[in-house]
Amino acid sequence: MKKLKVTIIGYGGMGSFHAKLIQENPEVELHGIFDILESRQQAGEADGYSAYASLEEALNDASADTILIATPNDVHKEIAIQALEAGKHVICEKPVTLNSEELLEIMHTAKEMGRVFMVHQNRRWDSDFQMVKDLYEKRKIGEIFHIESRVQGANGIPGDWRHLKAHGGGMLLDWGVHLLDQLLYMIDSPLAKVAADLSYILGDEVDDGFISYLTFENGVTALVEVGTTNYVKLPRWYVKGTKGSAIIEDWNLNGKIVKQSGLEFVVAPKPIKAGQGLTKTMAPPSEEAIIKEKFEKVTTQMDPFYTNFAKVVRGESEPVVKNEEVYQLMKIIESIFKAAETGQIMDVREYSYSR
Ligand code: NAD
Repeated sequence: MKKLKVTIIGYGGMGSFHAKLIQENPEVELHGIFDILESRQQAGEADGYSAYASLEEALNDASADTILIATPNDVHKEIAIQALEAGKHVICEKPVTLNSEELLEIMHTAKEMGRVFMVHQNRRWDSDFQMVKDLYEKRKIGEIFHIESRVQGANGIPGDWRHLKAHGGGMLLDWGVHLLDQLLYMIDSPLAKVAADLSYILGDEVDDGFISYLTFENGVTALVEVGTTNYVKLPRWYVKGTKGSAIIEDWNLNGKIVKQSGLEFVVAPKPIKAGQGLTKTMAPPSEEAIIKEKFEKVTTQMDPFYTNFAKVVRGESEPVVKNEEVYQLMKIIESIFKAAETGQIMDVREYSYSR
């Protein structure tokens, strides 16, 4: 089978990560790289890849069929459109663009040129997310009615361009895109409302974190939080169902499930001393009332993204990451910015999708 020849534009952190992943996938091969920084061109060459002298040279090379965009966010649109117009298929890093309008322009060009455009929403394949998705779909703790999805660090906003609005910096457009995409992909009901607060603790012109509260039409609620000033972290996932609760602590997938044994209304908990008082409500449930389970770890590979992309190019498969979904995600992100700015709860029903 003919491998897809991929040229990476932007050989920074993520571009060089893609280079390694591409080497490991039998459907694709790395054809070359281009970066506007000479030092990154040299880094690519030192890693064994050939560097084009310019974007134009990369796009005019008829032997490459796919352009992978891993530049800062503000230039995704212009590179994507140029690449599509040059007849290339395109893989684009997230956030796809700075706003939904820019994505519409790209989708229009892709359609006109008959080329595939797919966004790298790679965290749909994350093991921690797949574990929660499995819990949700198989109703292992009953009907899940509340989900908390958090990523917290204490290193501030990384790098240079992520501090600047003009480059599409800030955490909502960074980690926020991943966490929101995961929830929209998993929950089988349209998103109805969003409320949000952005944080500017570090004094940057862009948000260094945010908290958003989502309400889905089926009643499921979700709290999404990204923080860069958290010296003590909360668990990556906290999930409540009608028959139990679950947590995943971290990316090592340490977690647990605690659920009802069926005797919860028979075996009363013993009151405990709490602070200066006594409580039965907040006492741990009696051992007979609960079952503690190991949260089975799931191992996922990144192969599915490139494999799916190659199949879409060959016309053998539907894209796992659909542009219409990404468009709705961008509309919802715009609503979250608006909710934070106005302090209002935004109705986002018209933008929602469900599988
Ligand atoms: P980075 O700063 O490490 O790398 C960006 C590179 O692009 C730099 O080497 C820079 O010189 C180059 N560049 C800038 N403008 C260019 C242009 N016009 N043409 C060619 N090269 C150009 O940034 P990064 O962390 O690698 O992020 C790049 C993209 O990848 C962003 O969109 C980011 O959101 C995304 N990203 C995605 C993930 C993920 O898991 N999906 C993780 C990290 C970053």
